[in-house]
Amino acid sequence: MSTPALDATIRILVVDDERPIREAYRELLASRRSRKPSEGDRLRAQLFDRPEPEPRAVNAIEFEVHTADRAEAGVEAFRAKLEAGEPFDVVFLDMRMPPGPDGAWAAAEIRALDPSIDIVISTAYSDVDPGEISARIPPVEKLFYLQKPFHAHEVRQLAIALGRKSRAEAQMRRLAYYDSLTGLANRDLMREQIHKALALAVSNGRRLATLFIDLNSFKRINDTLGHSVGDEVLRVTAVRLSSAVRSSDSLAYAGYEPARMGGDEFLLLLPEIAEVQDAGLVAERVAKALSAPIRVDGHELVISASIGIAVFPEHGGDLESLLRNADLAMYFAKRDRSAAFQYFDAAMSATALRLLTLETQLRGAIERGEFSLHYQPQVSLGTGRLTGMEALLRWRSAELGEVPPLEFIPLAEESGLINPIGDWVLHTACRQASSWLAAGLAVGRMAVNVSAVQLTQPNFVERVEHALRESALDPSALELELTESALIASYERAREVLARVRALGVQISIDDFGTGYSSLNHLKDLPVDRLKMDRSFISRIATDARELAMAAAIIAMAKSLGLRVTAEGVEDDEQLDLLESQHCDDAQGFFVARPMPAGKAEGYLRTFAFARRDEGKPS
Ligand code: C2E
Ligand code: CA
Ligand code: CA
Repeated sequence: MSTPALDATIRILVVDDERPIREAYRELLASRRSRKPSEGDRLRAQLFDRPEPEPRAVNAIEFEVHTADRAEAGVEAFRAKLEAGEPFDVVFLDMRMPPGPDGAWAAAEIRALDPSIDIVISTAYSDVDPGEISARIPPVEKLFYLQKPFHAHEVRQLAIALGRKSRAEAQMRRLAYYDSLTGLANRDLMREQIHKALALAVSNGRRLATLFIDLNSFKRINDTLGHSVGDEVLRVTAVRLSSAVRSSDSLAYAGYEPARMGGDEFLLLLPEIAEVQDAGLVAERVAKALSAPIRVDGHELVISASIGIAVFPEHGGDLESLLRNADLAMYFAKRDRSAAFQYFDAAMSATALRLLTLETQLRGAIERGEFSLHYQPQVSLGTGRLTGMEALLRWRSAELGEVPPLEFIPLAEESGLINPIGDWVLHTACRQASSWLAAGLAVGRMAVNVSAVQLTQPNFVERVEHALRESALDPSALELELTESALIASYERAREVLARVRALGVQISIDDFGTGYSSLNHLKDLPVDRLKMDRSFISRIATDARELAMAAAIIAMAKSLGLRVTAEGVEDDEQLDLLESQHCDDAQGFFVARPMPAGKAEGYLRTFAFARRDEGKPS
């Protein structure tokens, strides 16, 4: 199957063994505008029983006439254009072309290549029975019969009428089977393609692979940069997919096109692969092609894709299960960003069920009061004083028990549930800080984790303001923690939003620093106050000199940019000492204190405040 051409040119194939007749067709169907009488005019005068009427322009109809002198050559020309994606609209066949096969043979061959093609059979002999031919080459309504010598306008009218019909059909086909935004095949056409390819794979005993491709963070691009940018990203993706398919030499793609299944989802069909691994090679190449930066509207966007693969017969025996399993594998690829693609695996179904249950339970969790916050102290390495508390979300589900944040937060982000949940955290943490402060307990800053998804809400700044107002908390007592990857993903937007949050007096820190790929250089223009060095660094500084050197370099660079540094996940005194010697500002971790429920945290604050007072007293 090939994409019907969009242009209005009507492509006509003429197969006739007589050269003057072929030329007569050419002349007849040539553009009618300001034409001098030609050799063809004279020929026409001889061949046709009536001189041609005055030349007149037929509105906007353009013909492209191809000719062949033998039946075999005609069939070949037809096949070539079909495969090039420029199929003929009408075929004129001479009945008798001795000594080769006749027009009826060519008609049958051509009909086999394209069952919808209109064929006109012409003959000068009266012994040919049109009824008999159409019976041999059904369907009847697509076979026409023309008696030579023909009237000039008869040929032309036939070409115009059939050509227009063919164009209209192509247009309808385009609407029904192609995606108007990208020009790719749509879901329906892809299903037909897979259906056919499956039948072939079964009869040839071959493998077939479906690659389900989904863009990462597409929704965020759409939401923050607008739909026209999103549309452009989809168009560029479509072009890249098509060329990735075309340039794939080793695998047979013959005639199959990539499809847009909807939204930012695409599907590739590899109709014949030798080994299961071959699909992965293609997926890798596709992922690479898609990840090149896209320039749209002055933005440079880097968009990655997650690809799920299902192979017939290993991962599914029919169309539905292949599509479902490729989709499922894609979902897993999206969750595990370390690989660009995932093959379907039977265990995925069970995991998916768990995720579905989690999401269902997560939906009502706020209303059922299943969330709580734990608080983990941060202390100054220089003075030992408490400088802040980080609020950490806990979920005790009535159905599932305790679910760790690393399991449910990604799910909440995907489903958008993180917005109401994040609001709940913000309000609860602000109220808690405010009530501790009112009770005379110094909490330093209350640090609240904010997901990248929350940042894309149009009214994020107002939500923060609202939480502060509602809890009567001084903005300087609030700090928002954003991960490095969140800031990089939509850098411009993050910069603008954070500047507004900071203007309120709220502090900003970069969480998990060192796990993303950003450089300090990239972050230096962001309005932030603090870096939180990721736990993975800290855990190795005591055992690996290079890690210590890295940590030292990060601290030094952060300081030169005027940023404070907190070390996360400090688990022993050796780490603490090393960090202190590198002039790290603050520390947080099990060695200092574990995250605690509100009641226990309050007790901690009281004893901490006491200890401080005692320290100040002469012993
Ligand atoms: P995070 O922001 O990096 O939070 C620190 C995590 O490290 C917490 O895990 C904390 O319990 C753990 N931790 C603290 N000290 C140590 C230590 O010395 N050793 C070790 N091994 N771990 C330590 P937790 O509470 O399980 O939270 C995990 C992640 O979930 C957080 O990582 C954060 O990314 C996310 N998260 C938690 N609460 C929220 C929230 O309210 N909103 C959002 N968006 N994300 C949250
Ligand atoms: Ca954090
Ligand atoms: Ca962190």
